[in-house]
Amino acid sequence: MTELHRLTLAELNEGLRARRFSSVELTKHFLARIERLNPALNALITVTGDQALAAAQRADQQLASGEAGALAGLPLVHKDIFCTDGVLTTCGSRMLSNFVAPYDATIVERLSQAGVVMLGKANMDEFAMGSSNETSYYGPVKNPWDLKKVPGGSSGGSAAVVAGRLAPVATATDTGGSIRQPAALTGLTGLKPTYGRVSRYGMIAFASSLDQAGTLTFTAKDAALVLRDMAGFDPRDSTSVDTPVPDYVAALDQPLAGLKIGLLKEFFEGLEAATAQLIREALQVYERLGAKLIEVSLPNLPLSVPTYYVVAPAECSSNLSRFDGVRFGHRCENPKDLLDLYKRSRGEGFGAEVKRRIMTGTYVLSAGYYDAYYLRAQKVRRLITDDFARAFQQVDVLMGPTSPTTAFDIGAKVDDPITMYLNDIYTIGANLAGLPAMSIPCGSIGGLPVGLQIIGPHFGEAKLLNVAHGYQNETLWHRDIPKGYE
Ligand code: GLN
Repeated sequence: MTELHRLTLAELNEGLRARRFSSVELTKHFLARIERLNPALNALITVTGDQALAAAQRADQQLASGEAGALAGLPLVHKDIFCTDGVLTTCGSRMLSNFVAPYDATIVERLSQAGVVMLGKANMDEFAMGSSNETSYYGPVKNPWDLKKVPGGSSGGSAAVVAGRLAPVATATDTGGSIRQPAALTGLTGLKPTYGRVSRYGMIAFASSLDQAGTLTFTAKDAALVLRDMAGFDPRDSTSVDTPVPDYVAALDQPLAGLKIGLLKEFFEGLEAATAQLIREALQVYERLGAKLIEVSLPNLPLSVPTYYVVAPAECSSNLSRFDGVRFGHRCENPKDLLDLYKRSRGEGFGAEVKRRIMTGTYVLSAGYYDAYYLRAQKVRRLITDDFARAFQQVDVLMGPTSPTTAFDIGAKVDDPITMYLNDIYTIGANLAGLPAMSIPCGSIGGLPVGLQIIGPHFGEAKLLNVAHGYQNETLWHRDIPKGYE
């Protein structure tokens, strides 16, 4: 039998249902890998071994009695941004390093009901602010493809967990690229759904108008399997949209003949030659499947990064004001008075990048600068959204690179926030416009993976997954496993 960690989630699901192995066996297998491989990767903050084995036993009983949920017995790791009842939930911050959540996030609850077995909580950039997983209070995560390199961020722990085969799926969040960029840098399939498709209830807020939960998996089919149970209306999240959840798995095999693919002109200008070549080769696969390539231009797209770095900090400065040393998390020792309590609790609890964002956000929202920065950014955001809407009148999906570079060295960009922010130059547009987008592996440069980005119209997840699955039927990049993790 193939080693269990080499199988996709869909294959593991079939194996469990055919009783070729039990959930307890599967869970023990992954827990042993976590014990052996996580010390070098630093991908998990918390491992919930006993809880996992108890859940696996329950799943085995349900599988035996025929009452099992769609994902019964499948191991999973949650990004540590999702509240998990009775389990430490840190958001990668000292501020929450003592916070045991008193309830489950909606997606945690839904996936548990579907039968998944949570193995633990993944490391991440502090409050999901970062592109390299170096802002975490718990230390940097290493990329399984090369331990000297970053895995991307902010969902770097989730990505390293799946790429290192410590779990077949991890949840993640994407505010400006934090699912897709780590997927690209670690050779995974990353899916960021439409804003409002997946509930944000119990997901610690960074920038509420941009944040969206999704998955990191080996394949598009695996993502379809998980999204079916994650997605859907939630009355506890007022931005969650009440539209039916299609059967994403059933839609995977639609033929791609006649598919209209828009190539984003702005994404190819200045793109490094080796990456451009791999993207072109991926596009040729689609052409062989009968797709048509059409060049499209989104003239306002180059304004995405500056727009995002006004909107996201503005929202984060407001969201993070709840961490005051009174109600949640870190509280300083012996405060002199209330102001001292606020100042020192926040000063000690937050790291440098989070403080930089709070200060930027407070500045752009201040009375004297609101019109010049925040209001203007909102207007540009609308222009970018309109650009995308026009493009989708012509084409079914848009394609381009996910990240301007492959995984870079740990430490290489930490002292240069602007260079770090430019990692998300290709991903942020989809967040500003609320669109669903994916990254799938499409080759490697010098042994490091490269991602192809696919962006769809609102609620176009089924089409995106279908398009990604079609490519994965023709290629084997998604089956590559880093050396030492086979
Ligand atoms: N890298 C971006 C940032 O630092 C995006 C982060 C994210 O998507 N959570 O804000």
